[in-house]
Amino acid sequence: MKFTYEAYARLIRTIREAGYEMMDYHSFHNAKKCCILRHDVDMDLGAAVDFAEFEADLEGGPVKATYFILISSGLYNPYSKECAENLKRIVRAGHEIGLHFDEKRYMDEEDFDSGRLLECVIHESALLSDMIGKRVRCVSMHRPSKRFLEENIHFEGIVNSYSKKFFKEFKYMSDSRMRWREDAERIIAEGKEQKLHILTHPIWYAHSEKNLRDVLQAYIYAAIPERYALVKDNFTNLQEVISLEDFI
Ligand SMILES: [Zn+2]
Repeated sequence: MKFTYEAYARLIRTIREAGYEMMDYHSFHNAKKCCILRHDVDMDLGAAVDFAEFEADLEGGPVKATYFILISSGLYNPYSKECAENLKRIVRAGHEIGLHFDEKRYMDEEDFDSGRLLECVIHESALLSDMIGKRVRCVSMHRPSKRFLEENIHFEGIVNSYSKKFFKEFKYMSDSRMRWREDAERIIAEGKEQKLHILTHPIWYAHSEKNLRDVLQAYIYAAIPERYALVKDNFTNLQEVISLEDFI
């Protein structure tokens, strides 16, 4: 499968034609054949917004997905004005916001402590809920440790998308590192699985296909004008000292 918007739209059409109903982490029991769409926002919230609005606008009707947002990342700040507006746009496009949680922010694998992790997830969920003005009801782990997966932790009132249920009862497929581990399109089209759990990363998708290196290079290069604009907003007469052209 190509990493283009067009190919993604085709994937959604295949899911629908194979008889799956698009459900979320709370409603999936209501469908005989269901598909949960999940997106982890590891780096680029702007790409996530474009994707969210694209999904809302799909031919054949909008799809509802869950966008998992990191609040502990150094790559975007969901509390900034721009990101807050982007989160609102994702919600307005009909999607759910979940917490993407990075356990390495708090502990190394050798110091793994499920009680502490539980507290940290509850704390970050409350912070994100406050930011979006809506209760966060699900969490996904950013690069989960083996220990975390083994523990199958239950968070009171928050669905753990990495719990055994969503991995054992569901057919889970992911495009991590811009690579499907199996032929997702074929598996979906065959329709043999009753429950699908599909993770995609909006940053990989564009109107024309790029490879992994190009996507990451463009993302890193884009940081220069973005950082310049931010410094300009916070430093009077920046252009008298240095201009954006000096970096290009
Ligand atoms: Zn992640």
